[in-house]
Amino acid sequence: MEYIKRHIRDVQDFPQKGVLFKDLTTAFKDPRALHIIGWDLAQLYRDKGVTKVVGIESRGFIGGSILAFEIGAGFVPVRKPGKLPADTLQASYDKEYGKDTIEIHRDAITPDDIVVIHDDVLATGGTMRAAYDLVKSMNPKKVYVNFIIELTALGGRDRLPADAEVTSLIKY
Ligand code: AMP
Repeated sequence: MEYIKRHIRDVQDFPQKGVLFKDLTTAFKDPRALHIIGWDLAQLYRDKGVTKVVGIESRGFIGGSILAFEIGAGFVPVRKPGKLPADTLQASYDKEYGKDTIEIHRDAITPDDIVVIHDDVLATGGTMRAAYDLVKSMNPKKVYVNFIIELTALGGRDRLPADAEVTSLIKY
């Protein structure tokens, strides 16, 4: 874990003033750090019968794909509006200024699925809450929630339902 931490870059005031951005591109570009991230994510879910990993656009596509590959699951993208080509379900959520919307293909998840929803960073939890509600509305057997980094001071976990099983590799 120390090795991954050493490869995460802190960028002050991105994308706006006052935000300390945890940049994982510096970890993803390092072969050993990428391998450790994939392996450590997989260790959390190997014995859970996971059939689909849902990755949130766009940084959640990277860790989500390597997790899916490592545990032999499929990968499903959650995207911003208008990007997915077929019939979608949508969820909107409040951001600091205004609203945001995310989409998933209507046929992406079935009631037989056991799902992990993955994003790179848990901040306020608004994005994951919307993704969680979307996936839940498709009635899979089980939904897990996972991040590489959790920013604990922002209280994102409290925005997720109490029964959501949340894991993260690194807490700040
Ligand atoms: P949230 O506030 O939890 O809805 O976060 C929104 C999205 O922005 C997530 O997908 C995170 O990847 C990203 N994000 C928010 N805050 C940070 C941060 N300080 N460093 C890196 N990514 C962040």
